[in-house]
Amino acid sequence: MRLDRFLANAKIGTRSEVRKIIKKGEISVNGEIVKNISFHINETDIVEYMGKTVVPYRKIYLIFNKPAGFVSDKTNAQPSVFDLIDHPFIDQMHVAGRLDRDVEGLLILTNDGLFTHRLISPKFHVEKEYMIWFEGNLTAEKIQIVENGIVLAQNRFKPAKIKLLSSNIMTLTITEGKYHQVKKMIKIMGLTYRKIKRIRIGNINLGNMSTGNYRELDENELNELM
Ligand code: URA
Repeated sequence: MRLDRFLANAKIGTRSEVRKIIKKGEISVNGEIVKNISFHINETDIVEYMGKTVVPYRKIYLIFNKPAGFVSDKTNAQPSVFDLIDHPFIDQMHVAGRLDRDVEGLLILTNDGLFTHRLISPKFHVEKEYMIWFEGNLTAEKIQIVENGIVLAQNRFKPAKIKLLSSNIMTLTITEGKYHQVKKMIKIMGLTYRKIKRIRIGNINLGNMSTGNYRELDENELNELM
């Protein structure tokens, strides 16, 4: 790949910006300054800018175990998950399916917009499973209401699945991602929650990943998800 394209792909700047940077002699390849914008870069070449190795662009998909207390947006105003992830591509990434500040668990971050569209679009029916620690009496009747689908004033939710794990813990599986959907469904059931944690998106399980940790999805996981 040409050096100017390599640098622009790696988000060092626009094509014309990186050409200026190259011509100023600010780029080295394998330790040698290169001023030729069409210099050919191979996969094994080490390209450096301002003393740092330039990481070649690729599509990236991370799963992260979000702690409570962090927003899913890029913002300086509040503690954000973007402050917790130390990854060379973090500035290019967005969250595919946000979690509220007080909600924990599985978050996917990527720089692939098309992938995000598929994941969050109700058209593709990707399941999202939440574990809920709740208070109140969850009757068979209430479970039935949620499992039949809800049409209640502005609240229209497709049929969801509930599994009762104990007298105050359930899992709720939905295929949409409407604003505050899980919280609204809990309220409709006449319950309150102590904790909500997303534990699965499609075939991707949070498993025993520790809070605050992340890892890249492998190719098999991605192929099954998309
Ligand atoms: N539903 C909610 O109410 N909040 C979330 O963060 C995710 C789903």
